[in-house]
Amino acid sequence: MVVDEAAKEAVARLRANGHQASLVGGCVRDFLLGLEPKDWDVATSALPEQVSALFEDSKAVGTHFGVILWRGVEIATFREDGEYSDGRRPDSVKFVTKMKRDAMRRDFTINAMYMDPETLEVIDYFDGQGDLKSKVLSTIGSPFDRIREDYLRIFRAARFAAQFQLNIDGALFSAMAEEADNAGKIAVERVRDELVKILTGPDPGTGLYWLRACDAWSCSPHTQAMLAKLSNPPLSLAVAVFMDQESNPEAELRRLRFPNSLVDTVLAILAARAEVVALLENNSVSALRLAREPWFPDALELFRLRSEQTLERGRELLKRDLWPKPLLSGDDLMRRGIPQGPEIGRLLREIEDAQLIGRVKTKKEALDLITPS
Ligand code: ATP
Ligand code: MG
Repeated sequence: MVVDEAAKEAVARLRANGHQASLVGGCVRDFLLGLEPKDWDVATSALPEQVSALFEDSKAVGTHFGVILWRGVEIATFREDGEYSDGRRPDSVKFVTKMKRDAMRRDFTINAMYMDPETLEVIDYFDGQGDLKSKVLSTIGSPFDRIREDYLRIFRAARFAAQFQLNIDGALFSAMAEEADNAGKIAVERVRDELVKILTGPDPGTGLYWLRACDAWSCSPHTQAMLAKLSNPPLSLAVAVFMDQESNPEAELRRLRFPNSLVDTVLAILAARAEVVALLENNSVSALRLAREPWFPDALELFRLRSEQTLERGRELLKRDLWPKPLLSGDDLMRRGIPQGPEIGRLLREIEDAQLIGRVKTKKEALDLITPS
């Protein structure tokens, strides 16, 4: 693994001009894990206008946060975030000169490491390396405080746990579960972006597992089981599987503000799901037309996941007690004053139904079930 040349150059130039500068965040974490970073971020004590002056062909991206983009590298001034009065975004930011203050505003220990791009020396105030080694995700500071500051961190925790196969620290998980009710306060686009990263990541099933476990997101166990079979799937397939059990996928996709083009594709895949068998089995020209659609492979994949899921459900049924011993007889019912006739049969069947789904197990429970209260 080599450090990106532009990132090296950016750090070197900032330092040559008397500023502190270092690689930071996701790229350091990924580098230490031996993974190719998606993007290279630089943190510096230089103010945004000083950065702009040093890199002529740069442009300001996060004007509010003072982030400058130069040859694909994001150069951000050390900062502290102000209050998050709405649990969504900091109301203000304050530029600071100390690297440690910049580290403290970050969410998880593994996301707050700094690295010298030349010597590869790591500055790690909160033992992110220890957490990576022991495979746990933990926040910087109290997880309750950090999640109340920004509820999106619930989703981010699920995402990072799934992405890097980490356990979620016990206190962090408690905080997630306690604050999950507030998930609705987060800007929907931010949630969607984290969901997309979970869904298209290496282990979507685990990401959804964490979100379901803390009650931040409900999805059917079947959806989760199907997602668990995917790894780094294309976005359209991932979202189609995610929406497969939704009663009104279009409304949900629009609520999450997915772009129209994706909504159209996902709805087409979901619609084709029912047609695939019929069209493919009768070998019609319609099947060929369907196969020309760019999303046809995704539709086939959804069909496969669905079929496997259905088969598994069927096999699960075979493992259940399908012939439970009757808890009550017709005589028992007649002795309790129910007249002989079709009512007896109806009640016996009602009890058997309740036994099959495991709702009643004893004679007493069976009697309670049929005794009007
Ligand atoms: P990825 O590789 O997916 O981009 P990343 O760690 O770079 O992962 P980003 O969302 O790009 O994640 O954020 C970059 C860095 O900014 C993080 O590593 C973290 O230090 C900090 N950060 C981002 N979002 C938050 C947040 N909501 N709260 C605190 N710190 C955050
Ligand atoms: Mg990033």
